[in-house]
Amino acid sequence: MTDAAAVPPPAPKQTASLSETKVPVVQIMASNIKEVWPSLIHSVKYSSFIAIDLELSGLGDRKLLMKKHYTSTSAQRNFQRSVDDRYTAIVEAAKTRSVLALGVSCWRVTRDEPEPEYYVQTYNILLLSRDNYTVEPDALQFLVEHGFDFNKQYKEGVSYTPSTEDMIVFKEKKSPEPIRDLFAAILQAKCPVITHNGLIDLAFMYQSFYAPLPPTMSIFVADLQDMFKSGILDTKCVAEFLIRETATYLEYLFRKSSKRMRDAVAAGKPHLNLSFSEHRAIKQWVNLVECFACGGSSGKDLCETYANHGYCKDGKKCSKSHDVDEAINSHDHKSKKHKTEGKVPPIKSKHSNGDVVDTGCHRAGVDAFMTGFIAANYAVYLKAHPKKAKGEEEQKTSSKKSHYHSRDNHMSVTLEENRDIPLPLVLDPCRRAVNCLTLSGKNIPLKVMKSAFVKPSAAHMRQQHELNRKNSK
Ligand SMILES: [Zn+2]
Repeated sequence: MTDAAAVPPPAPKQTASLSETKVPVVQIMASNIKEVWPSLIHSVKYSSFIAIDLELSGLGDRKLLMKKHYTSTSAQRNFQRSVDDRYTAIVEAAKTRSVLALGVSCWRVTRDEPEPEYYVQTYNILLLSRDNYTVEPDALQFLVEHGFDFNKQYKEGVSYTPSTEDMIVFKEKKSPEPIRDLFAAILQAKCPVITHNGLIDLAFMYQSFYAPLPPTMSIFVADLQDMFKSGILDTKCVAEFLIRETATYLEYLFRKSSKRMRDAVAAGKPHLNLSFSEHRAIKQWVNLVECFACGGSSGKDLCETYANHGYCKDGKKCSKSHDVDEAINSHDHKSKKHKTEGKVPPIKSKHSNGDVVDTGCHRAGVDAFMTGFIAANYAVYLKAHPKKAKGEEEQKTSSKKSHYHSRDNHMSVTLEENRDIPLPLVLDPCRRAVNCLTLSGKNIPLKVMKSAFVKPSAAHMRQQHELNRKNSK
């Protein structure tokens, strides 16, 4: 697999302490995509894994997306029905809403042992759908509050045409679509794709950059398994089912992983090593983002809703603290109280107002980076805690386990190690969670595994054929 071209240029090591480390994110727009393209495709091609995140114009009917209550006596049938209903809602959303930005974070292992070392390149691609689409006020407000620049998106977004049935049948392609080529390159990179709570993102990518979504969830899942042959890893699944974190929203997991990494460094234990590309040739489009910055404490009471869910209906008007580091500190303190009365040293938070770092117009890129960071850290953590990785500790915590399973009519989660998926060695400790996707509000993951009775969709087969044909040229 190694060839001379694949060797990355010498990159500055992460010599600064983690809290001072700035993450370079390349901003990609219609005006610079030609210049940035070679770097982007090279990064994708030589990745050990690729983390992805989308910014969407809306999600549609949330009640339908979360649907979970049926009263059939069969738990399995209830589960299947609610999953099918959700899929219908997701398809509707993916056909009427659009992707505003795509974040791609490429992680290449440069050393496995004794500690993993990665070379990381992160891109944020502004997108503009050629079709009409719905923008939801809630999504709009959220994006504007987080610095998303809609003027820039309209002026500078890389345009794409969402899939239609005609497009597949007639292979209609009016103008070149770089995003479809990028998606094809990701599929062909034959490396695992990392997402956070990724079911909806995967459905939007499928519909927007690949083919019309198939009619049922079971066909969609069969297609996904065939498309992502090196597996899909959902960091929320790892957090929920392997690590058993108190909260599982993206920023919480990111801050918690950063804290674990800082602690490991301080204790001289195995930890992650990162190096970042300088992107010398395309330097003018690189933003340096302070993802790891630490600041003072807010001094306010913790907002429990935000601390547990990463969301509070009062938003910025809430008088309590939305600081995630304070939430983690409080959770850690509570769990340690039961064991020892030892003092827990406080960790510092970043901003006194408890805001997320100013991710502005490159949020999808930053979120993709965070997702990759969480996965890489979990792999190190699980390697050091093999019983957790193998699920051998679950017997001991059976009280917690039964609580975990009760809400879905006592259906239980059995995550097995799937040895058929060619994971890179560094991600092997996460193997039990591979090809499992979280279903919001449910305690059972969706398994991305083709049923014996289901065939992949015809549109997917045609796309695969087309990709293979292009490849053999
Ligand atoms: Zn609040």
